[in-house]
Amino acid sequence: MKRRIILLGPPGSGKGTVATKLQQQFGLNHISSGHLLRREVEKGSAIGQRARVFLEKGELVPDRIVLQFMGEWIKSAPFDKGYLLDGFPRTLSQAQALDQWLASRNAPTEAVVLFAGDLKVVRSRTTGRWSCPKCGRVYHIDSAPPRAAGVCDDCSFALTQRTDDTDAVVRNRFEIYRRHAKPLADYYRQQGKLTVVDAALSPDERFAKTVAALN
Ligand code: ADP
Repeated sequence: MKRRIILLGPPGSGKGTVATKLQQQFGLNHISSGHLLRREVEKGSAIGQRARVFLEKGELVPDRIVLQFMGEWIKSAPFDKGYLLDGFPRTLSQAQALDQWLASRNAPTEAVVLFAGDLKVVRSRTTGRWSCPKCGRVYHIDSAPPRAAGVCDDCSFALTQRTDDTDAVVRNRFEIYRRHAKPLADYYRQQGKLTVVDAALSPDERFAKTVAALN
C-alpha cells in the first residue's frame, strides 16, 4: 500500500474522517494543518496570534506564515510509517515547497486523493461537525457520531464545534478553495499521482475508494 499520501478537497468533503480511519487502520502519521494552526491559536503562541484572524474569516493563512510553520513540522516529523497530509498543501506554491522538503527527506509523495464535491454537498457536512480539541478526531452528528454524545471515543475529551463552521464562513472557505483547486489538482495530475473520489459518497464508500487508490 502507498503510505505517503496527500488528501485534497473543499471544507466538509470528508478528508478528516477518511484521514482518521487511515491513521487507525494503517498507523499513518496524520498531519492536519488546520488542526495544528487551531492549536496554536488556542495556545496564543506567536504563530497563533498571527494566524487567528485568517482562521476566523475562513481565509488562507498567508504563505510566509504557513510555509515557515509547516516546514518546521514536515522537516522533523517521523516518516517511518509514512504520512497523511490533510489541509496542506492548499496552493500551488505550497505544493512546490512541500515537494522540495520531501525530496530532501527522501520521502516523496506517492498518492494524492482529491475529494471532489460542490457547495451543496459539503455545506450540510460542516454544520453537523464536531471535533475533539485534544486529538483532532472529527465526528458528525448523523454520519459519524461518537459512542457517547459530545465525548471523544479516543480520549474522552468534550467535543467542540469550530467557530469557522458557520454558513457564511463556510461559503468563503469554499470560494477560496475553488480558486486554488485546479492548479493544485493539475500539478499532481501531471505527476501521475492524482485520484479523484466523489465527496458525495457515504463515509464507508469514500474510505473504500481511497484504500483502493492506495493499493
Ligand atoms: P477545511 O475543513 O476548511 O479544509 P482546515 O481545518 O483544513 O479546514 O483549515 C482551517 C483553516 O486553517 C483554513 O480556513 C485556513 O484559515 C487555515 N489553514 C489550514 N491549512 C492551511 C494552509 N495549508 N494554508 C493556509 N491556511 C491554512
